[in-house]
Amino acid sequence: MKTDIPFLDLKAAHAELRDELRSAFERVLDSGRYILGGEVERFEEEFAEYCAARYCVGVGNGLDALHLILRAYGIGAGDEVIVPSNTYIATWLAVSHAGATPVAVEPDERTYNLDPRRVEAAITERTKAVIAVHLYGQPADMDAIRAIAARHRVKVIEDAAQAHGARYKGRRTGSLADAAGFSFYPGKNLGALGDGGAVTTSDADLAERVRMLRNYGSRVTYHHEAAGFNSRLDELQAAFLRVKLSRLEDWSERRRHLAAAYLDELDGTGLGLPFVPQWASPVWHLFVVRTGARESLRSRLAARGIGTLVHYPVPPHLQPAYAHLNMGPGTLPVSEALHREVMSLPLAAHVDMAALRRVTLAVKEGLAGIAADAGRPHPS
Ligand SMILES: *Cc1c(COP(=O)(O)O)cnc(C)c1O
Repeated sequence: MKTDIPFLDLKAAHAELRDELRSAFERVLDSGRYILGGEVERFEEEFAEYCAARYCVGVGNGLDALHLILRAYGIGAGDEVIVPSNTYIATWLAVSHAGATPVAVEPDERTYNLDPRRVEAAITERTKAVIAVHLYGQPADMDAIRAIAARHRVKVIEDAAQAHGARYKGRRTGSLADAAGFSFYPGKNLGALGDGGAVTTSDADLAERVRMLRNYGSRVTYHHEAAGFNSRLDELQAAFLRVKLSRLEDWSERRRHLAAAYLDELDGTGLGLPFVPQWASPVWHLFVVRTGARESLRSRLAARGIGTLVHYPVPPHLQPAYAHLNMGPGTLPVSEALHREVMSLPLAAHVDMAALRRVTLAVKEGLAGIAADAGRPHPS
């Protein structure tokens, strides 16, 4: 059977905006400015305002956003940066690219986000920053993390790549710490039609340094005060992002609606469901459930044309890219168990309630089938 509920259908999202995206394209085409022009400037203002941050600096992607923040703070060789043990590998790579060492901290088992108590235990005299990821669209416990960081005089950086518009105690991500890195990869809640990213901060010096570093270390054309990078948000992507930013609240609301239905329908099935602390207002980048029978459930859903994904199958410390850390299997057991058991169900602004009901029905029948098979280990 063909996949008739795909995990994510980006074409459906853009069909709704077709005319506006076309006119954004024509505006840029006709402007004759394709790098660091008016669209980037305008988007930076609009996104800073959206996040309630003083500044936004558009960069090439989410990895660069985090990397440039670390560079701008002067964090590098010999320094340690605390990162979650369970995150997309980009969080770790940003630290490695700056020349510093990622120090993994295990998550809270209910929220899957950084556990503040474990953060404190991991701080050494080399620690310069903590990167808190708002995983799957749910904010980390920022007040607790910031209180610990303040005691030890280390920076707190948000990895908000999955959490555009999520709120913590009523405040939006992007203004919950010293600085934040966002990704506008197409599949993110606010996605471009290509790569894109941004740094938000209310620290004027940091914003200035990131602005300089993204553009060859230059504030004045052909004068280079640092060995900078080429990582600028494209004018065209900024124009598209302005269109999509105008829909973000509406689309997040649709996601919340779907997530509430999933939580309701899947309650009592035995699946591990997302836990939302009372201070969190997530934007449901992903709807992640947990089960020891993941592979079996995924294949039963696939047989009914329902696409699922795993975020993520292999934790960073077990990737060949981090073999040099010598952290074998068993060194981060909480994260390793999550990586064995989590799977993501389809949830996006363009999934409708009828599709969601088909998914929940298939999940329930799949779980019943798995239980029946377990009770009959030797089918005749
Ligand atoms: C997507 C993502 C990134 C990296 O963003 P890119 O734009 O793909 O470089 C970083 N951190 C997390 C948690 C992400 O999900």
